[in-house]
Amino acid sequence: MNSIQEQMRARARELLTEGTVQMVIGWEKGTFWYLSPPTFVTAPEDCDRLVWDEFCTNNLAKYLLDYKHTEDKIAIFVKGCDARGIVRLLQDNQIDRERVYLIGIKCPGVKDGRQAAALGEEKRKEVPLAEKCRFCTHPEPVVYDELLVPDGGEALREAAAAAEGRFAEVEKVEAMNPDERYAFWTAAYDRCLRCYACRNICPACNCRECIFDRSQSGWCGKQMNRSENMFFAITRAMHVAGRCIECGECERVCPEGIPIMTLNKKIIKDLNELFGEYEAGVDLEALPPLGQYKLDDPDEFH
Ligand code: SF4
Ligand code: SF4
Ligand code: SF4
Repeated sequence: MNSIQEQMRARARELLTEGTVQMVIGWEKGTFWYLSPPTFVTAPEDCDRLVWDEFCTNNLAKYLLDYKHTEDKIAIFVKGCDARGIVRLLQDNQIDRERVYLIGIKCPGVKDGRQAAALGEEKRKEVPLAEKCRFCTHPEPVVYDELLVPDGGEALREAAAAAEGRFAEVEKVEAMNPDERYAFWTAAYDRCLRCYACRNICPACNCRECIFDRSQSGWCGKQMNRSENMFFAITRAMHVAGRCIECGECERVCPEGIPIMTLNKKIIKDLNELFGEYEAGVDLEALPPLGQYKLDDPDEFH
């Protein structure tokens, strides 16, 4: 058993036993060796379910919303991207900081579950990093109440530093002419099933009622066709504009392999160019570029 996992179980058991928290959110071993899905532990004797391995991929922050109307205090393990998700939820006034206890983990990066399944367990060591980790700028949690003693982290940071082109895929699309770009995006989103997995997993998608669940709104229909799918894609992208923490979860869960992060990163790149460098979910006090205004704005607004 690795030392992070030992620490996780021990701290969860202590926090539940002493009554500091009523629930601990972490990861447990799933049906297959390449799956470590979220788990919700409420009894000290169940803490040995908690695991820490290279497949603890899910960003756990979003699950706090399921408990936001309870009185419980919840402990949650946070990698770098989970911590940025927490900042996202705090900035959006979705959670109460006093009701969460953040146990930070310096993240060495997680592995790509789909490629793991294809390679087989005997090639476990050859499974590549998950796409979202290749360009991760914050593997260490940006916010926490306590930090577990790390197993690693340096290896990932070197990999991230070596990885060129956080916006490489965006630049490829930008280099296309308008017809090619249209063909690229329509080919991608013609496959969209409107399953909303991308929305459901996203810590930035936290509206009480999503526009796509409001069939009476008149804005959008339920049909799966090109115009409705593109409306969905563009609307969701704009709703997370300046707020997307680049956790890559939307693209990871998409059953159709749609390059959602290319769309998100295009908007991040544009915002950086238009309003200056900004990383969402890093600094609680730094407001998103589209979440503020200046009275002396050079452009007119009404
Ligand atoms: S995106 Fe960063 S913090 Fe999140 S799992 Fe990958 S390396 Fe870890
Ligand atoms: S849009 Fe995707 S990458 Fe951005 S915060 Fe949501 S799930 Fe994460
Ligand atoms: S997860 Fe993929 S298929 Fe499902 S709604 Fe989102 S983009 Fe469409």
